[in-house]
Amino acid sequence: MKFWRILHLTLMMAVICGCGGRKPSPDPAFQVPVQMIQGVPWVPLAQAMALFGSPMVEGYSGQFHFQQGTLDFKPNHQSFTMVDQKIWMGYACLDWNGSLMVHLRDWEKCLLPLLRMKPMFAAYHSTIVLDPGHGGRDTGAMNASKSLVEKELTLKISRLLQAKLAAKGWLVHLTRESDLTLDLEPRISRVQEFKPDFFISLHVNSAQAKEAVGIETFYTTPQGLPSNLTRNYEDPVEVTFPANQFDDESFQLAWSVQRHLLIATGASDRGVKKARFMGVLRNQSCPAILVETGFLSNPDECQKLASDEYLLQLASGIASAFPDRSNKQSETQ
Ligand SMILES: [Zn+2]
Repeated sequence: MKFWRILHLTLMMAVICGCGGRKPSPDPAFQVPVQMIQGVPWVPLAQAMALFGSPMVEGYSGQFHFQQGTLDFKPNHQSFTMVDQKIWMGYACLDWNGSLMVHLRDWEKCLLPLLRMKPMFAAYHSTIVLDPGHGGRDTGAMNASKSLVEKELTLKISRLLQAKLAAKGWLVHLTRESDLTLDLEPRISRVQEFKPDFFISLHVNSAQAKEAVGIETFYTTPQGLPSNLTRNYEDPVEVTFPANQFDDESFQLAWSVQRHLLIATGASDRGVKKARFMGVLRNQSCPAILVETGFLSNPDECQKLASDEYLLQLASGIASAFPDRSNKQSETQ
């Protein structure tokens, strides 16, 4: 990875300097200008977006119209929005003499997959593994006043989602079918037995602050970027994990699932985020995401999570991100 990164940088620097005599690649990704600022590589957004046919909105330096929707960046903000949906980068946007810049690694691992939006699904994809978070003696989050327990909610949502996806022609396995204690290692082994094409771990959130609310979707942090959530675990940016082979696919899946969840539920958007400490994600050998479906610690959201109707909305939202295999359509966003 490191060699590839250096090569990529070298190619891009050659393009800016106009040196090397090498015929430029037709791929705009390799023509993007890179500016070194205090030893850190940054990409000027306006020029980079123009390569993809997306000039910035007149008079406003952080907004770009793109075929997928409007992208909106703000200086010193680590997140941006696409079609009003929040996505978290590794580094905050830099305002450099009036030009907005994104870190090169964010450009490569976050912006490029969105701008390219390659088809995620193929006809040979057939199997999804759902992971109802926690189980057995590991209850996960709880709301005593509503008698709600995360391990039960994640199993309920997983079963509803299994039915929705099966109706679309997918083969769907669960890591646990009952209130079973399942540690990390056997959980991952179980996933690998099924050889899935996609993996989704389902969780319910909780926080000290009662006002924390909404849905967020995680994928494994790409090499070279800091995570958006570490929970005080180490976050070694140069390390790669098995899941990093599927950075783009996992990110696209996270983006699509989050988008469909927001449409289905009207919940608050906490965004698509990266985390490296989640063992259940980083050790997977397929596109893998973890969905935090809402906060048991928030009175309003807890009220919603107590209703089977809302759990069905959550399941329907996630299922909408997957194509219907039963009518042989092989591609969707
Ligand atoms: Zn959990």
